Formats: sequence, C-alpha cells, structure tokens
Amino acid sequence: MTDYYEILGVSRSASQEEIKKAYRKNALKYHPDRNPGDAQAEKQFKSISEAYEVLSDDNKRKIYDQYGAEGLKGGMGGGGSHHGFASMEEALRTFMGAFGGGGGGFESFFGFDSDEGDPGVRPGASKKVNLSISFEEAIRGVEKEIAVTNFMNCAKCHGSGAASTSDIKMCSRCGGKGQLHQSRGFFSMTTPCTQCKGQGKIIAKPCTECSGQGQVKQKQKVHVKIPAGVDTGMRLRMAGHGDAGVGGAPSGDLYISLSVKAHEFFERHGDDILLDLPLSFPEAALGCKKEIPTATGQTYRLVVNEETQSGKTIRVRGEGVPNVHGQGKGDMLVRLVVETPVNLSDKQKELLTAFSELENENNSPRKRSFLGKVKDFFS
Ligand SMILES: [Zn+2]
Ligand SMILES: [Zn+2]
Repeated sequence: MTDYYEILGVSRSASQEEIKKAYRKNALKYHPDRNPGDAQAEKQFKSISEAYEVLSDDNKRKIYDQYGAEGLKGGMGGGGSHHGFASMEEALRTFMGAFGGGGGGFESFFGFDSDEGDPGVRPGASKKVNLSISFEEAIRGVEKEIAVTNFMNCAKCHGSGAASTSDIKMCSRCGGKGQLHQSRGFFSMTTPCTQCKGQGKIIAKPCTECSGQGQVKQKQKVHVKIPAGVDTGMRLRMAGHGDAGVGGAPSGDLYISLSVKAHEFFERHGDDILLDLPLSFPEAALGCKKEIPTATGQTYRLVVNEETQSGKTIRVRGEGVPNVHGQGKGDMLVRLVVETPVNLSDKQKELLTAFSELENENNSPRKRSFLGKVKDFFS
C-alpha cells in the first residue's frame, strides 16, 4: 500500500503549507530534467506528484484519510477524481501548477500566501460512515454502537508531540512567529519559517508514543441513538466524533448515512406502510374477518366486506411509521389482492362450473360495462 504522507515525508496532521513545501522539495529533487534517463527517479517523481495532487486538495485528502487510495478510485465525494498519473505530462502539469503555473516558477517558490492563521491550529476532519438497519429498527428506533478509527490527541504528550513540555522550544529563527519577513527591493515578503516549518516552535525530543505527531490513530466506539421513523438516505450528525483537532481546534463530526433494509411484507411509502393481503375468491365474495400484523408487532382485526374487489385498499389510521420530526404517525394501507384458485380438484371444478352456469351479467358489472364499450368502439 502506498502511503501518500510517507511519500512526501510529512505527518498526517501536516498543514497545506507543509505539504506544498515537502512536494516542492521532493519534486525538484526527482524532476526528470535533473535526472535524465533515470527511470527510478521518474517513477518517484510520478508518485510524489500523485501524493501531492491528493493531499493538496482538502476534499480528496479527507476521502483518502478515511478510505485510502481505493476510496478515490470509485469517484467518491462526487469529484470524479482521476489520479495515478498515466503519463509524465500529467505529472508535470501538477508540478507546474504547484509552482504557480507557466513561467514564473521559482519566484512563486518564495511567494507563499501566508494568510493561514496560527500554523499549529487545525480543526479535526469530519468523516462519514454507512449504517444499515432493519425495517423494524427504523420504525421503532434503535441504539447502536459504531466502531470508528479516529486521530485522537496523544494521551502521553496531550497532543504537543514532545516528550515533555521542557522539550518544546521557541524557534530562535522566527522568534516563535512561524513566519519570516524579507525585504527585496520594493517588496516585503512573508514566508513560513524554514527552521520550524511554520510552527513557531521546535520539538527537541519527540514523544515516543506518537513519534512527535501529537496524534495517534485510535479505534473508538460511538453510541448512536437512532430515532423512530428514519428512512434510507437520512443522515445523522454526531458532533465532535470525527478526528480530534490540532492545537486546541475543535474535533470534526461523524456523519452516519442510514439505509433501511427491505421487509418481506411491508413496504414503506413515506410515513405510510403498504401491506398486500391475499384473499381467496370466496373470502372476497362472501366477506371475512382477518387478523393482520402491524409494523409495530401488534395484531389488527380487519373486516373485509362482502363483494370486495381485488386491489381495494383499506386505510388503517395511525398504524404507519411515526414521523421522524414528531409530526404524528402515518397509516397502514392494506391492499386486498384476490387470488384466483389453483390446483383445483374435480369436485371444485364441478362446483365452479355449476356456479358459472348460474352466473348472470349482474354478477360482473365491470366486465359488462367493459364489453359494452368495446362493442361501441368497433361498431
Ligand atoms: Zn505523543
Ligand atoms: Zn521558526
């Protein structure tokens, strides 16, 4: 597995400035112009550019942090990202882009935008997980434990990255500001301090637990209360359950995308529930009483009137899904489906034949009206 952070030689919590800088340094070293005919350097240059293309884009970086390089291949996040440079031209384009494009390459090396605020402070990344729940769980509500792997502030150094507080020294070069001011002719320029990489401080002895990164990856269990009435496509936000922020910045959030599994008998239509109830031909003709299940596990006694037609829907008020926003409850819609009898015995056929002989056109008013219209149509 390729690790983009490792390729650029930056920490996982590296700022955009650090990433840009690490890329420039590496890209210059392995640039094909400097290493003509060196296939190894060319390969290195391509993977450096690939790593930079992803990590320099906050959106892609977020996806990469969460799902790895695989996550970017599927076009996640809607970006339709393409990377993994097929050609050297593409990798070079990224290189020129990082240098401000076109001609003025080297000047822009010094011309950083330095309007980044405190370099040591960065909010934690938010992340998204998918959660599948059953039909019943969606209707009744449910509590779940979700395992997520987050970057957490290292418990040993409390996120400082130093072995002890006395190992954090103010950067002597920039006086702790993280930035250097330079005057060149008419221009005054601000660049990140090269000694402390814009951090304003130097860590003399890194924390052994987190190797000086200040954060460690940790598996965590998040307790989620899913309210009754949720449906596929809904998203729950768990504030503060993403990656921890750096330097006291707030943590990211955890977004839970829900999908509700289909039920064998019940079908969801918004807050209403549709149930197909099969009836035999005599039951529909003579009427009957039926005990039917409701989605909340109760039994409902349904009266089917005599002479019920197939497809008729009976609305049972309040037996649907509780509205997720607390706006009452939906209904259960029972659709009566009359089944034509099959596997008939001789005796049954005999009786149906006898019935058929007694049938008159008043027994089938729809059929009569339909046949009448078809006749008119052709005459
Ligand atoms: Zn630590
Ligand atoms: Zn400094």
